[in-house]
Amino acid sequence: MSQAQNILITGASRGIGQAIARQAAQQGWSIGLNYKQSQTEAMDLAEELRATGVKVVCLQADVSQQSEVQRMFREFDEALGPLHALINNAGILASFLITQVDETNLHQLYGANVFSAYYCAREAVLRMSTTSGGTGGAIVNMSSVASRLGGLSGGSAYAGSKGALDSFNLALAKEVGTQGIRVNAIRPGLIETEIHNVHGGVAQMQNMAKTAVPMGRSGTAQEVAKVAMWLAGPDASYVHGSIVDVAGGR
Ligand code: NDP
Repeated sequence: MSQAQNILITGASRGIGQAIARQAAQQGWSIGLNYKQSQTEAMDLAEELRATGVKVVCLQADVSQQSEVQRMFREFDEALGPLHALINNAGILASFLITQVDETNLHQLYGANVFSAYYCAREAVLRMSTTSGGTGGAIVNMSSVASRLGGLSGGSAYAGSKGALDSFNLALAKEVGTQGIRVNAIRPGLIETEIHNVHGGVAQMQNMAKTAVPMGRSGTAQEVAKVAMWLAGPDASYVHGSIVDVAGGR
């Protein structure tokens, strides 16, 4: 990049978000690194990335809460200045049957996986839109193959939340495409992160991937991160309203 660009990554303390932050640092971005509770992991990552010469600010916020998202973006503005890209990555996996649904677990899941994307995209569009004085930018939404496969067992709520994100991605792309903002999504498949602790852990997931995935293996967070940062950057200048599967053919 000719000059430093500023990116905010939600859920960057662990897993795919952490890998995206590392990829962004390699490309010279200044990074707002959001986390909810994994403070030590976020601080350690920030220190690691700063040692490579990039600017990093840690931003604690529960992105399912609009007031916390607004505070987080104000902290980002103060620390780094203009926003050029947002990665809506934060999300949680839950497994429960339809007979086990209650208000609390449903609100928690949709808050983290869907409402968060609306709240963060709102703040990002207000800053990046060329109609409100911004210079444009990119938004990347982290969906899942669950949106078209229905998820793993007990996955109706998770799959539904990712389906909502796919539709949001398409509609937002239509809404802000002439405002200099590109909007795209990624549908990861089985990726080796702690999110799979809900379903018995990474080792069990890797075993399942041998037969469930056409490539015969699970993916790494880095393999998703490379696509995310390609979508966020100038090489994807005419990619808009798209959903890219990173799922080994699944
Ligand atoms: P991890 O569980 O490894 O990491 C989740 C990250 O999201 C953590 O940094 C966590 O922060 C953060 N987070 C969760 N809830 C909130 C919240 N309310 N506010 C702020 N941060 C939050 O998950 P992955 O890296 O695997 O998943 C990242 C994204 O990719 C998710 O949207 C997930 O649905 C999606 N995905 C993952 C797949 C996989 O196989 N791994 C497959 C398909 C999609 P903290 O640690 O501080 O709580």
